[in-house]
Amino acid sequence: MTNTEKDIRKLNLLFESTNPEAILRWAIGEYGKDAAMSTGFGVSGIVLMHHISLIDTGTTIFYLDTGLLFDETYELIEQLENQLGIRLVRVSTNITLDDQSQIYGEKLWESNPDKCCHIRKVLPMQHYLKDKKAWITAIRRDQSESRRNAPLFQWDEINRVLKINPLAAWTEDQVWSYVKHHRLPYNELHDRGYPSIGCFPCTQPVDQEGSLRAGRWAGKQKTECGLHRG
Ligand code: SF4
Repeated sequence: MTNTEKDIRKLNLLFESTNPEAILRWAIGEYGKDAAMSTGFGVSGIVLMHHISLIDTGTTIFYLDTGLLFDETYELIEQLENQLGIRLVRVSTNITLDDQSQIYGEKLWESNPDKCCHIRKVLPMQHYLKDKKAWITAIRRDQSESRRNAPLFQWDEINRVLKINPLAAWTEDQVWSYVKHHRLPYNELHDRGYPSIGCFPCTQPVDQEGSLRAGRWAGKQKTECGLHRG
């Protein structure tokens, strides 16, 4: 076991009986400007943004603007900035949608969604995290099979950062109770049958109970955009 692995194991033990606020306070105190939270504006992300706004509104929070987000998501960004007093950093590729069509053909999200996510999400995020030391995410174990074993802290070898998942142990009910209790804004598409919201070409409403990420890349094997590998 390497020193990094030992340190991360210690962190997981130290914080396993605490709460997201304690984890965020530690992360922000330890890393300051070297820490950044990513958000896709799901309900968990809103819980974390609210916590962060109460700790230090100067903490970096960024989102990946693929150019294919729903109008409702852009409206939510404005609401969150106004209500929480935070600033959300927009991160995007410099390959326009027109460039993408010219190079790879129309609707790459249909012909090769992995490639499309790689260009519009994975590469811009890797570039953005290059000078960071800690990456805070809102992933939870109950969101999908691939996230079932998500720890509170892990080493992300691809981005070479400490990945921190303060809500790993929280449930869907907990995040919704928190958002309602604090009267936080959320994407109105959730009330129209969308459990998980990404880019509009790859997100559909669902009419039955299932995975919390049902409706994303419906009809395809794909369940993740590639940001949370490893
Ligand atoms: S979610 Fe769909 S549209 Fe968005 S980057 Fe991935 S494949 Fe492209």
